[in-house]
Amino acid sequence: MHEISLVRNIFRTLEEEFPNDIPRVRGINLTVGLLSNVQPILMQNAFQAVLEDEPRYQKTSLHVTILPILIHCEACNTTSEVAQYRFICPCGQPSRNVVQGEELLISSVELDEP
Ligand SMILES: [Zn+2]
Repeated sequence: MHEISLVRNIFRTLEEEFPNDIPRVRGINLTVGLLSNVQPILMQNAFQAVLEDEPRYQKTSLHVTILPILIHCEACNTTSEVAQYRFICPCGQPSRNVVQGEELLISSVELDEP
């Protein structure tokens, strides 16, 4: 289950960024593109599973925001949303020029007052 390693990576990243503030972390906001194949429900399950080994994060919750896939069309210079994984611009041109949808990042972290 690759979500487990994703959650562990998120925790390691936080520990590098906020080495002294882990007990104050209350919320982790993740932004995930549809193409990254991360299922929010599986992320939540993995998060709960990892918490068993990482009691420091007991008071932390995870929020996952999914971003739609956007492609940019060179033919008509338009950015449009991909539906049903059909990489075709409304003008009819196929496009593989993905400008959004592959992200997997920590968009923000909520910290309690010290
Ligand atoms: Zn187009």
